[in-house]
Amino acid sequence: MLEFEERTIKVSIDDSKCPDCKTKACIKACSLYSRGMLKLRGGKPTLLISPREVKRMGTECLGCEFECRLRGLNAIKIEVPMPELDEFKQSLSK
Ligand code: SF4
Repeated sequence: MLEFEERTIKVSIDDSKCPDCKTKACIKACSLYSRGMLKLRGGKPTLLISPREVKRMGTECLGCEFECRLRGLNAIKIEVPMPELDEFKQSLSK
């Protein structure tokens, strides 16, 4: 499992699925829509820069998750905390 954080999000990649992935779409998505922080090593995505740099430089574009779901093997999950949305939902139920 590859996990890293950007400013507000957490990215989890179940890289046990990746050797069977024919497209490696996450790598291309990261170079097209973000800063190209993912690279392929041993058939799996890895970070090209340190986790600290990723946290500072990541654009939070969500492109890798979208492309993996669309063209890969659905290995990426991105958590996007939205406490304001939870508060809003609670206010609606009152
Ligand atoms: S697109 Fe998804 S399944 Fe394919 S290599 Fe990337 S993370 Fe793994």
